[in-house]
Amino acid sequence: SPVVGVLGLQGDTREHLAALTAAGTRAVLVRRPAELAAVDGLVLPGGESTVIDKLLRAFDLREPLVARIAEGLPVYGSCAGMILLADRLLDGTADQQTLGGLDVTVRRNAFGRQVDSFETDLEVAGVSDRGWEAPGPEDTGPVHAVFIRAPWVEEVGAGVEVLGRVGTGPAAGKVVAVRAGNLLATSFHPEITGDTRVHRLFAEVVRTA
Ligand code: GLN
Repeated sequence: SPVVGVLGLQGDTREHLAALTAAGTRAVLVRRPAELAAVDGLVLPGGESTVIDKLLRAFDLREPLVARIAEGLPVYGSCAGMILLADRLLDGTADQQTLGGLDVTVRRNAFGRQVDSFETDLEVAGVSDRGWEAPGPEDTGPVHAVFIRAPWVEEVGAGVEVLGRVGTGPAAGKVVAVRAGNLLATSFHPEITGDTRVHRLFAEVVRTA
């Protein structure tokens, strides 16, 4: 089975390791360049993108990671991880950098005070609209999406597929799940809901990369 890393500098790494293991991959923490070199795919977890950005540089991971993304490494970014994958960032801090790779404009902390953190069910293409092998109770129907000071995707470039939008409420229509080739990103946190379908989709991306 493929080896999938979880960037282990800051954020909710344990939950991603558990979800990746449930998705049938060998999940490992990545904190050093040699560990990055050994993985077939990588998850950028939720957390605080400004902190992860600084730590990527402090741990000498930024350059090798940018290089591997350019070579086609499958990467799944959740929340702060989506911010890190974005080519363009709105409402970042003054010195904040992203890794880039995904041709999107992402707005950080986009949902604002009223709906700072919220949960909703939504359809995710390739996830909620397909039959999974040996489906469990969480494996059919919409994805329960948990947003925690989340970004949204404000603009997608050509070649970026919109997989999901918020269905109802003040943020209805906002793009919150995208894919371009081997790069997958969600504004929300499937790793904390027990629904492993997004991680299984990413495991497929890694297997077929
Ligand atoms: N607001 C955080 C950031 O800017 C992201 C929050 C999250 O990952 N849950 O990085």
